[in-house]
Amino acid sequence: MAAQPVSVLITGANRGLGLEMVKQMLEAPHPVRKLFACCRNPDGPRAEALRTLAKKHPNIISIIQLDATDLCSIKQSAQQVDSLVGTGGLNLLINNAGFLAKGTLQETSPEDMKITFDTNVIGPMNIIKEFLPHLRAAAKASKMSGMSSSKAAVIGISALLGSMESVKESYSFLPAISYRISKAGLNMLTLCAAEELKMDEILVSALHPGWVRTDMGGEGGDIDAQESVQGMLSVISSLTEKQNGAFLDYKGKTIPW
Ligand code: NAP
Repeated sequence: MAAQPVSVLITGANRGLGLEMVKQMLEAPHPVRKLFACCRNPDGPRAEALRTLAKKHPNIISIIQLDATDLCSIKQSAQQVDSLVGTGGLNLLINNAGFLAKGTLQETSPEDMKITFDTNVIGPMNIIKEFLPHLRAAAKASKMSGMSSSKAAVIGISALLGSMESVKESYSFLPAISYRISKAGLNMLTLCAAEELKMDEILVSALHPGWVRTDMGGEGGDIDAQESVQGMLSVISSLTEKQNGAFLDYKGKTIPW
């Protein structure tokens, strides 16, 4: 079995795929030791399931307030993690929080575009930057050679809709112009960060979770969150430097940019 990360941070961990990641990481044969479950409103009704999990696993889960559109909250969350993470640093950062607006070109307003870009691109970029010292600390502290998610890695939860090559086939099914542009932006961020951070031996990849039955994916999705997350966690644990800067689906298949 591949080595597992000791410390993991997940954004948007209060529902959907993020919450399922938290659940499965706790149930794993070798559960993570520190799980920073971030959400924008830890005391709100949408974080109830996460709070219940945190009460059951107080030594593993820390719920951290993080709004991906708010740089102050990202900086504060990085400071909070600093005081909890120790010298081993942060092994795995999962930029999962995301926002979907569904409009066509003619329906999409500048405001739709701004909030989607803020959440899906600028947020992940700021989060990578603010947590970089923790990721670098993990890479330095690790005795493993090469790159892996148990050493130091950033995973961006992207989407097939961000694939430029898929537009002709998928556009009429779901236009979602601002979402598509933002996920294409997240993919470029992934490639640039992978290039820039390889000298620190920090792996950066993007994953498509499949079309999943969550609030975002709706009831018509192909798979449930459990299947998607099982697949993604297995892919994440198998990543090496060969997949640095890769765009893969939850089964490990390469997706064209
Ligand atoms: P979801 O059920 O709608 O959950 C979205 C999560 O993102 C929630 O925890 C939400 O928190 C959080 N979030 C939204 N804006 C945020 C912000 N500004 N700051 C912090 N957190 C924020 O969606 P999901 O299906 O789990 O999606 C997770 C990821 O997978 C997203 O990046 C999405 O684009 C991607 N994805 C999903 C599908 C699918 O079929 N479901 C397909 C492709 C890609 P609140 O509760 O506070 O709103």
